[in-house]
Parts: sequence; structure tokens; C-alpha cells
Amino acid sequence: MPGGALGDMRHWLILGVIAALVMGYRGVLSRLSRRAVSGPAPGMVGAVAVPEPVGNAISDDELDRYARHIVLREIGGPGQQKLRNARVLIVGAGALGAPVALYLAAAGVGRITIADDDRVSLSNLQRQVIYGGGDIGQPKVHAAARRLADLNPHVQVTPLPRRITADDVALIRGFDLVLDGTDSFRSRQAVNRACTGAGVALVGGSIAQWEGQLSVWDPVHDAPCTACIFPDEPAPGLAPSCAEAGVVGALPGVIGSLMALEAIKLITGAGSVARGRLLILDGLWGETRSIAIRRNPDCPVCGSRG
Ligand SMILES: [Zn+2]
Repeated sequence: MPGGALGDMRHWLILGVIAALVMGYRGVLSRLSRRAVSGPAPGMVGAVAVPEPVGNAISDDELDRYARHIVLREIGGPGQQKLRNARVLIVGAGALGAPVALYLAAAGVGRITIADDDRVSLSNLQRQVIYGGGDIGQPKVHAAARRLADLNPHVQVTPLPRRITADDVALIRGFDLVLDGTDSFRSRQAVNRACTGAGVALVGGSIAQWEGQLSVWDPVHDAPCTACIFPDEPAPGLAPSCAEAGVVGALPGVIGSLMALEAIKLITGAGSVARGRLLILDGLWGETRSIAIRRNPDCPVCGSRG
């Protein structure tokens, strides 16, 4: 066979392969489109009530971006729409807030507000993976918002450069879900009071040294609030902050990612969540425990007799 004819055949063969790839990709997108409209989304009892869809249909870019969610039976197109319409408040843009914010923005949670009054420092970079060296000295909420806008332009991020207090009930009523990654007893109790007052579920995580824990605090669905289980402020020195006691760098990545996972399930209605359960991870020995916890009828925050 003459060399020119062989070259022509190779040329057509390459074009044929490219055409097949394009057709295959279009086929995948159209299957995802069908799932995005009609995919099943099994309901979880007590899933957060996300408002009905607003705005445009899911674009081809979003179908491609969220393809791994849309093929999941438990999320599918309807679940992705719920993520897109969800309004979430992340309290604390530190070690736990960093993975929470990154994973929720990447997952397509449509409206994310991040509250924190701190600035990025060099000692944060050991575990607060949302920041880089160029962010040192910047307000955390603005640096985090820039990173999230780069990660996913479909997500609306609102920086709130202040702390959340127990008086923020009206603010919290504007959200479907709150995630708290603050690192002091007082700030966690304040967030718990505001969420209980607003009737909004709270995904709470905490870490110290090698150990972390999380729960979904939700008295509206008969799960305890934080104060049911931890009513009293620990004596000085008994619950030192991470700055005093230290914390291993990867631990907030694990607990923060679990918090983001609980949020995704609460919003989409997939599976079940740690409501009425306290998950404890001992990172030093690689052990996990799940403890059943109950509401305290005499709780000063959510109790019927409180
Ligand atoms: Zn309570």
C-alpha cells in the first residue's frame, strides 16, 4: 500500500476516534440531563426543608461539574437542585470551617455565608487548608470567599466578618442549616442558643489534640441541643483551646469533612445523620465510637421544663 494512502487512513482513523469520543461525551451529558430532571431522591425523615427551585435549569457546565453526584441514586438531579437552593451558614472559618466550606462549595451548595472575625496567621496554615501564604494578615472570611469563588463560580458566598451570638435568632432563621466549627465552649453555646431559638438544625464539630467529635443538634426533630449534653462551662484548664493544647493537622480535615457529609445528607435527604448520636474519633489510636444521646427535659436552652 502506498505511504500516502496509509497516511490518509490514519488521518481518518484519528478523526473517527475523536468523533466517537465526542458522541460518547454527549451521550453521558444527555443521560445526566435526564437524571437531573427525573432522578430518584429517597427521603430522609427530618431532612431540612430547602425552598423550591429558583432561577434557571441546571446548565451543561453544572451537569459536568456535578456528574458524580447526579449518578448517585441517593442524590441525583433533584438532590443536586436541593443543594443548589440551600442556604447554609458556616460559623468559624478556622480548622473545621475550612474543609466544611471547601466541600460544601465544591458540592454546589448554592448560598454559603461564612462568619468569623479573625485574620489569617502563619500558625493557621498547618491545618486551615483553605488559605495560602498570600492570605496572611487578611480577614479570614474574605480570603475564604475568594478561594470558594475560584473553586465554584456557581456558588454565592457571603462573608460575614463578625462573631455569631445568642441574639442572632433572626439572622439564623434565614438559613436552612448551620455548621459550627468554632473552638470555644462559649461560642458553641451561643450558636446553639441562636439555632435552637430559630428552630434550625446545627451540625456541630469540635477537635482537640488527637480527638474529635460531631453531632447533629436538632431539638425540632427530638434530638438534643448542645446544652442538653454539655450544660455547664468546663472549669478553667479542663477544656483548653487548640492554641493552648495543640491539634494534629489532619484531624480537622476528617471531622470537617464528616460535618460537610452530614450537611449534604441533611439537604438532599439521603441516608441518615448523626441526630441523637455523638460520633467520637480518637485519631491517635484510629478508633471511632458512636454514643446514643437524648434530650434533657430540664435543658435550660431547649427543655420543655427549662
Ligand atoms: Zn437542650
